[in-house]
Amino acid sequence: MARDPKHDVLFEPIRIGPKTLRNRFYQVPHCNGAGSEKPNAQAWNRAMRAEGGWGASCTEYCSIHPESDDTMRISARLWDEDDVRNLSLMCDKLHEHGALAGVELWYGGAHAPCMESRCVPRAPSQLPSDFEHLTYPKEMDKDDIREVQGFYVAAARRARSAGFDIVYVYGSHSYLPQQFLTPFYNKRTDEYGGSFENRARFWRETIEQVREAVGDDCAIAVRISTDMFMGEIGTQLERDALPFVELVDNLVDLWDVNVSGISEWGEDATPSRFYESGRQLPWQGRVKQVTKKPVVGVGRFTSADVMAEAIRSGKLDIIGACRPSISDPFLPTKISEGRYDDIRECIGCNICVSRWEIGGPPAVCTQNATFMEEYRRGWHPEKFTKAENADNDVLVVGAGPAGMECAMILGKRGMRRVHLLEAEKEMGGIMRWIPLLPGLGEWARVVNYRKIQIDKLKNVELIPSTRADANAVLKYGAEIVVIATGAYWATNGLNGATSEPIPGADASLPHVLTPEQIMVGGKEIPGERVVILDNDGYFMGVSLAEKLATEGKQVTLLTHLGEVAPYMKFTLELPNMLRKLHSLHVNIVTHAMLQSIEPGRAVSYHVFDPEHLTEWDADAVVLITQRRSNEALYRELKDLGTDALRSEGIIGLYRIGDCLAPRMVADCVFDGHRLAREIDSPDPAVPKPFLRDRKVIELLRA
Ligand code: SF4
Repeated sequence: MARDPKHDVLFEPIRIGPKTLRNRFYQVPHCNGAGSEKPNAQAWNRAMRAEGGWGASCTEYCSIHPESDDTMRISARLWDEDDVRNLSLMCDKLHEHGALAGVELWYGGAHAPCMESRCVPRAPSQLPSDFEHLTYPKEMDKDDIREVQGFYVAAARRARSAGFDIVYVYGSHSYLPQQFLTPFYNKRTDEYGGSFENRARFWRETIEQVREAVGDDCAIAVRISTDMFMGEIGTQLERDALPFVELVDNLVDLWDVNVSGISEWGEDATPSRFYESGRQLPWQGRVKQVTKKPVVGVGRFTSADVMAEAIRSGKLDIIGACRPSISDPFLPTKISEGRYDDIRECIGCNICVSRWEIGGPPAVCTQNATFMEEYRRGWHPEKFTKAENADNDVLVVGAGPAGMECAMILGKRGMRRVHLLEAEKEMGGIMRWIPLLPGLGEWARVVNYRKIQIDKLKNVELIPSTRADANAVLKYGAEIVVIATGAYWATNGLNGATSEPIPGADASLPHVLTPEQIMVGGKEIPGERVVILDNDGYFMGVSLAEKLATEGKQVTLLTHLGEVAPYMKFTLELPNMLRKLHSLHVNIVTHAMLQSIEPGRAVSYHVFDPEHLTEWDADAVVLITQRRSNEALYRELKDLGTDALRSEGIIGLYRIGDCLAPRMVADCVFDGHRLAREIDSPDPAVPKPFLRDRKVIELLRA
């Protein structure tokens, strides 16, 4: 299929100051967990985007000095010449693929906890961070201002010598320049506080100095948050952002426009649960009206139609992407070649973001198992080698996320035949019904993408509406068997808080229910008063609370944890989720664990005072306590022993996904992918070691 001509606008080159962007696809700064200290992982990861057709790829936020240290989170760093050497590898690899390399110079101000460097960050006023608990900055005097501006200049020079084409003076997500611009952070009474001109002074001077230092060699980009959604005290579009764009437009080569501060940056890195693609376009379009320079902006764009329209309508010049480029590094190439149905669309789950929020590990992606595996495992998202044992048939039992991914990759690796057996009529497993929860419709892309790919693979066959017992598997005739039968929510209240079932919890009774019984089992929820027990702490408890409250039930949501759905803090979904539950009058009770369940009644206790009991009128109790693997089939086959399996021609038996251990969908997809990538290794059940970017010292022996 050829490219639709209406998308041609996405492939027109555009000038960014002294540089030329080859098309309108631009991977804006986003974290990946590599920083400057895993230079190979950093370089390979960004280069994959360049290979996939992105015109530019940027580092994550890049600290300019030890005073801007975000440990436990991972930023890039340009503190010294060693960092220059490490990041120059990324620049070189991007240039090999014809892409520009960008670096986002970052000074965190009040938000930098400095847990590694043990420095004290500086900020316009001495106010503790509203993002990083217990972090206080030093209030800057004029010498401090000059010194920190010097840090920017020195880092910009290092960026130039590393080979970067685009140097950001990052003032978004409420980091230092935005702190000066914003009354919430800036309480100064000198020429750096008060009026707009004064609040803008630090950022304007810094841009001037960076431009003077490197501006003939590098393009100068400014990332600006146009609205913090905090009213008068936050950054405001008309009062602050647009005047600032006009003030320094002649100094800037590229505006990277977004919204929000860091304390609620889910308003910018928007979960699909709450926002559709293109949420920031109204703000980006306003900046376009006042600037003469190109505007790039994100919006979780995955549709070529929406991207082209954003440019044609004059809201953007360049399509920025974080998550869509993570989910599909080859998105531009696929649009260019008219392969629209091959695009692996981001689902907006923010699991990638969660890894940054947690700090430390590399980012992962629900849709793209190869993300951050480019260097350490050598995985390419679009290239697959033929398996050395491709002359075998593989039977994959269970077409959930792990089974679908495994079958698809085995097919791409050229296995003779891959038989994907599924008990239900459709593939998808838990992802058949999770997208039916409120706001999670886009999560169905996990199934849709794989269904389309599997349909295209002549050597992969879905066999629906078919259950297999051990005997059927033995007699099937496949040499390799992969069990991917998923998991189920415990029906007796077994949970990780007490390690025991809950007395009276029995989902065979009419008043006790599990998520599957509600979503796909057709079990009726008796009465109006529903108690949900959530020991899981992610999306299931709050999603069912929202669903049942929307349907008119009186919902009480109990959790033994200190807050509901704590993992949704990391995915940036929690603030709006709490707003939603509050508006639906869901009664949230924390530090509460169910002691017993009876028809019409449930009793909970306070986890720090077990004598403190509360009785709940409960027509129904929903158990979201823990999941258990559906492993009976695997165990039955394994218990037969290797000799018995071999006598039936089975040379390999493996299990993947939730069947091995219940996990997030991203980890199940990875598991299926990993097994398929390594199906011809000496022991496919055991992951091959991966390369580690690390310093290895010589031991000095006396
Ligand atoms: Fe998109 Fe989720 Fe992948 Fe992040 S983890 S890029 S939000 S699909």
